[in-house]
Amino acid sequence: MTSSFSELALIEPLQRALSAENYHTPTPIQAQAIPHLLAGRDVLGVAQTGTGKTAAFALPILQRLVQPRVAPAAKSARALILTPTRELALQIDASFRAYGRHLQLRQAVIFGGVGQHPQVAAMARGVDILVATPGRLLDLMNQRHVRFDGLSVFVLDEADRMLDMGFIRDVKRIVAVLPKERQTLLFSATMPGDIASLAQSVLTSPVRVEVTPVSSTVERIDQRVLFVDGASKRPLLAEVLRDPAISRALVFARTKHGADRIAKDLERSRVEAAAIHGNKSQSARQRALESFRSGRVRVLVATDIAARGIDIDGITHVINFDLPNVPESYVHRIGRTARAGAEGIALSFCSAEERVLLRDIEKLTRRKLVVIEDHPYARSAPPPAVARPQQPAQAQPQRRQNQRRGGRGGRPHQGHAPAAQRA
Ligand code: AMP
Repeated sequence: MTSSFSELALIEPLQRALSAENYHTPTPIQAQAIPHLLAGRDVLGVAQTGTGKTAAFALPILQRLVQPRVAPAAKSARALILTPTRELALQIDASFRAYGRHLQLRQAVIFGGVGQHPQVAAMARGVDILVATPGRLLDLMNQRHVRFDGLSVFVLDEADRMLDMGFIRDVKRIVAVLPKERQTLLFSATMPGDIASLAQSVLTSPVRVEVTPVSSTVERIDQRVLFVDGASKRPLLAEVLRDPAISRALVFARTKHGADRIAKDLERSRVEAAAIHGNKSQSARQRALESFRSGRVRVLVATDIAARGIDIDGITHVINFDLPNVPESYVHRIGRTARAGAEGIALSFCSAEERVLLRDIEKLTRRKLVVIEDHPYARSAPPPAVARPQQPAQAQPQRRQNQRRGGRGGRPHQGHAPAAQRA
């Protein structure tokens, strides 16, 4: 396996940008794909977000766009990257800008939900790199603001999600107008039949590169569960977040309303937090993401939909405030903390009603989560006969824990956040 970027025959301005990004070793998808892409081959990449796939395609594309450098014609793009969500489009655009910072190439990004004028203006003189979501792109193509006769590279990113989100027809319409002579890359985390046949129709003699499936990403994550009553989840979260080892936490809530309530509650407990979900405007979501990314807020509370495609480095903890109804979502959620080979910690709060969801998750991931019993809101309903009148919230669970621990030979107090031991 290639152990450094210098072995990958990337030009010096790219190497310099990679050093600035602090990338020293190519990830497996980069080591496998970059040589084939530099040689002009089509690639079928079976890889999900988090494997370093953006750089795997961005670096060779940037290099080929300057060897030779050709001025793009008005309204046209030399490379097109199609991706399903605007968050992903913005991230890919930012990655190209970061890796290509010394190359002076022109770039534009196109997605729906905002006015089209700035996007039309950005395309007027033509660009080297265009990152787009399918719906708006098709719109602008139909209005003749964008053309592809000078295109030489096409990337179809997250093809399986395009399918899930109902974009495949739009994608096919776009592909139909691209020049036949081109280099094509298709990335997908999974390869259902529809995607395999799409791949066959858009790729020419592709090289297949495949990296670690979800299950092995999950193996690297320290996964723990805390049993707690629904009503105690919010104070428990504030308590857990008191641990300074949790330097960047993504908290998942099941509903938009829930996400808002959690963020507000944290603010009241003096924990800097922001929430993102579908009811927030695009600019509010971007602001929240930016303050999380820059470290101004330590905690981002998100719903599953809003978190799609969020890609932020250095998330130390994913906290499932609510367990997801679909066990696959659990895997996607916790994967946010194990980016590009990093290890992470996932804590899940589980109420009595959620036990069945926990069982589904454990079945899917084929592992049992470690139970953290040692927290101030540990759930163990006393039988009615010994039910005591109301006691101070802190004192009561503490006594229960001591009883339970005593029965097992009294483990020393380990703290509720395994991070502290790992940091
Ligand atoms: P991606 O799968 O493209 O979304 O990348 C996942 C994350 O890994 C991104 O935040 C990148 O900044 C980071 N990354 C990509 N390649 C490398 C590398 N070779 N070394 C360190 N980090 C990387």
